[in-house]
Amino acid sequence: MSQPQTYDAIIIGAGFAGIYAVHKLRDEMGLNVRAFEAGSNVGGTWFWNRYPGARCDIESVHYSYSFDEDLQQEWQWSEKFAGQPEILKYLNHVADRFDIRRSVEFNTRVTSVVWDDESSLWQVGTDDGRTAIARFIISGAGNLSVPKKPEFSGVDDFAGEVYLTGNWPHEPVDFKGKRVGVIGTGASGIQVITEIAKDAAQLTVFQRTPNFATPIGNHPTDLVEEAEQKERYPEIRDASRNHFLGVPYNQVQPSALAVSEQERRKVFDERWNAGGFRLFIDSFQDILVDKKANDTAAEYIRNRIKERVKDPVTAEKLAPKDHPYATKRPPLETNYYEVYNQDNVELVDVKAHPIERITPTGARTSEGEYEFDVLVLATGFDAMTGPLLSMNIRGKGGQRLEDKWSDGPHTYLGTTISGFPNLFLITGPQSPSVLYNMPLAIEDHVDFAADAIAHLHTHDLHVIEATEDAEDNWVQHSNEVAEATLLPGANSWYMGTNIPGKPRKCLVYLGGAPTYRKICQEIVDEGYRGFDLSAARKFSVL
Ligand code: FAD
Ligand code: NAP
Repeated sequence: MSQPQTYDAIIIGAGFAGIYAVHKLRDEMGLNVRAFEAGSNVGGTWFWNRYPGARCDIESVHYSYSFDEDLQQEWQWSEKFAGQPEILKYLNHVADRFDIRRSVEFNTRVTSVVWDDESSLWQVGTDDGRTAIARFIISGAGNLSVPKKPEFSGVDDFAGEVYLTGNWPHEPVDFKGKRVGVIGTGASGIQVITEIAKDAAQLTVFQRTPNFATPIGNHPTDLVEEAEQKERYPEIRDASRNHFLGVPYNQVQPSALAVSEQERRKVFDERWNAGGFRLFIDSFQDILVDKKANDTAAEYIRNRIKERVKDPVTAEKLAPKDHPYATKRPPLETNYYEVYNQDNVELVDVKAHPIERITPTGARTSEGEYEFDVLVLATGFDAMTGPLLSMNIRGKGGQRLEDKWSDGPHTYLGTTISGFPNLFLITGPQSPSVLYNMPLAIEDHVDFAADAIAHLHTHDLHVIEATEDAEDNWVQHSNEVAEATLLPGANSWYMGTNIPGKPRKCLVYLGGAPTYRKICQEIVDEGYRGFDLSAARKFSVL
């Protein structure tokens, strides 16, 4: 058997995170790196989620890398919110431009990541039976990269075609003239339903929880606006990094309850018409923390939904009432609600009448049988912890990450784990991650890891590990911040409740990107407060 290859760092994944990590560590720091990617090419989310209608929910001019000024100047987005094919093209362009692929092994899934106490090195096993060794692991395995397993019995017996939005085929799927069933009305469901409704002979939507979807406001790129933005791109990126969600919005008002009903309506109307996340994050500051303030936005959206759907019974079913606005990630849409005015579309409430099983010809709920030729599962992901827990990670003394996290994730800053030295999580649980514009969140985390590695190198050290105390304090702080918001009151993937048996814990740090970045910077400035830095036991590959 051949000797395992050794690297300074192994990177897992080749999405936004993996691509940037390869560039940063290899090209800027001169490290010997190798990335492993389960897919056959770069792109991550945008490689796997090829379903019709997939597009970003943060404007592309912001939802893109900021690390290279030439890159951000030369790339042109054709739409305000780019679709999946264009985002994938962009990531391929970045991979070409920085010659990323030569450091990536595609079609290679990491199946074990084991710390060796003797050598202070990680041993990484892959699904082709090989082992590789590295001092550092950078996990860019993603937050939304493990689709939820179907919870319904009978899926295997279904006689027609079955598609998962999170693992969509590369070839176009033809819905023309077919009867289609879609389960799920999260952001993926809402996008795919809108597209399938255009072609299908009959579309049955199985909705468990209605969502607060608001208009995306997409349009072809305005070239004048684009030129203006590119002229001050660094300034825009700076403003983004100083905003809760990582976007350069600056119209937010203090409280929905401090203004008259008329004024409130005006603010909501303006944000509704502007599109994107303006209503959610750029209207009133107390929407995520004060139920009464939230109720005003929720009622506004419910009324707008009811204006758009002709049948009052269907409109009522589509109007969310069981969770505050934005406690689930708010989907963005174009003509979603109008779909339900079409004769070929039926909405089935599966909260009132749950799906009992998938049958060979469709689905059976407690109320009746529904027939279709194609089943689309838009049922979400084992988010945040799923990708990490599926890699069999073992830390010091052989401790399994599954055991350490049996009651929910324990991390320091969402980037590191006590007992798992030299392992960096890119946008891990308990970091702002999905409540921060992700490419910027990813760059910040890769830079954090790179700086820590450089710091060790400069000081002739080899191991960095979060202390248990620092980790406990961070977990407590992250939970306290979450408790001060409305998020823990709702069932969502943010809370882990979309997966049966998963601990109910807030998986996202809700202090906002600017506060989080300040905390990280202070920790670094204080010589990596909360981390033990040490020399390696034996040999070093660095
Ligand atoms: P990913 O893109 O998920 O890439 C992770 C990669 O790691 C995958 O390719 C996967 O195959 C690979 N991998 C995982 N485990 C292993 C393993 N064990 N071995 C080998 N390879 C492995 N965020 C936003 O901020 N704005 C948006 O508009 C937005 N839109 C989204 C739309 C969809 C449909 C989805 C699902 C997510 C969206 N997100 C959005 C979140 C999105 O996941 C991030 O923005 C970003 O793409 C994450 O990049 P990443 O590289 O961290 O992870
Ligand atoms: P999701 O938000 O978790 O939605 C899953 C949907 O499936 C929900 O409606 C859920 O209902 C339903 N569901 C799950 N299990 C079910 C069951 N057993 N029976 C009936 N219904 C069931 O997943 P997603 O839509 O894939 O989105 C995940 C995240 O990816 C988003 O929140 C967002 O961050 C990102 N995303 C972004 C975009 C974008 O616009 N850029 C697009 C897609 C995804 P319940 O709510 O009742 O659980």
